[in-house]
Amino acid sequence: MKIAGIVRLEDISRLCPLISRGTDSFAGESAETRKVQVGPVCFGGPRPVVIAGPCSVESFEQTLEVARAVKAAGADMLRGGAFKPRTSPHDFQGLGLEGLRILREVSRQTGLPVVTEVMDARQIEPVSEHADMLQIGSRNMQNYTLLVEAGRSGKPVLLKRGMAANLCEWLGAAEYVAKEGNFNIVLCERGIKAYPAGEYSRYVLDLNVIPAVQEYSFLPIIVDPSHATGVSAMVEPASRAAVEFGCHGLIIEVASDRPGAPKPMCDAAQAIGPATLARIVEFVAAHSVEPLKVSAHAV
Ligand code: PEP
Ligand code: MN
Repeated sequence: MKIAGIVRLEDISRLCPLISRGTDSFAGESAETRKVQVGPVCFGGPRPVVIAGPCSVESFEQTLEVARAVKAAGADMLRGGAFKPRTSPHDFQGLGLEGLRILREVSRQTGLPVVTEVMDARQIEPVSEHADMLQIGSRNMQNYTLLVEAGRSGKPVLLKRGMAANLCEWLGAAEYVAKEGNFNIVLCERGIKAYPAGEYSRYVLDLNVIPAVQEYSFLPIIVDPSHATGVSAMVEPASRAAVEFGCHGLIIEVASDRPGAPKPMCDAAQAIGPATLARIVEFVAAHSVEPLKVSAHAV
């Protein structure tokens, strides 16, 4: 029986023909994972990519200090929010355009490519000018106007999973970007709201979705262990587990642990220090991407 409004996994290739495996729409490449290039960084290749940096850009000094630590730890790319989606409008909203300028300059000084969030279609132009990759956050995964404009921008897109989105909805969002001719899409699992979310961790890290994504789509998928757990002590083991599940990379929040360094204004409880990041990078460097061989149909 087909229940109206319920989308089943079998429907994915019909809903998302452009990004599905097993359809010929992507010039015969659908059997292979798509390689998404961001400057010198390649997502979807044999090596998992590590993106790291502060939750938000708070000052030039803070961003440069963290970026240097990220570089020294051996990570590949810098993250940092200039436009922050906060629960309360009274909380720090990010430095906006000034934050973008800081990111550009810090990227120039460290040689790390930068990913940063766009919350609204009007931000795409300035963000595209200053950053190497556009991040579409969990809260905007189904902002279809934003997805279309991100597609049209031609910039690589990091598409986070909506915190309550199922696989069909997430891949449907990616299809909007692809429909504009932009296949430079990297998916990011960042934790979902399930019953115990918020009780002993911030969200529930759905590692099980990694092999499912890899079965249905040729797009690379990375994991954000920082937002998924919300607990700094869980970030390292969650990163290792995500790599064991065959993801193509990680995006991790880092803060300075230098005595006297200001406490992050956003997501301080989940920030790890540079030494922990260095251990994660070492673990990642010792592992190549090994997709798990499971069939969701067999469940
Ligand atoms: C972020 O990466 O800074 C962020 C806000 O993440 P998410 O959209 O996953 O909550
Ligand atoms: Mn954050």
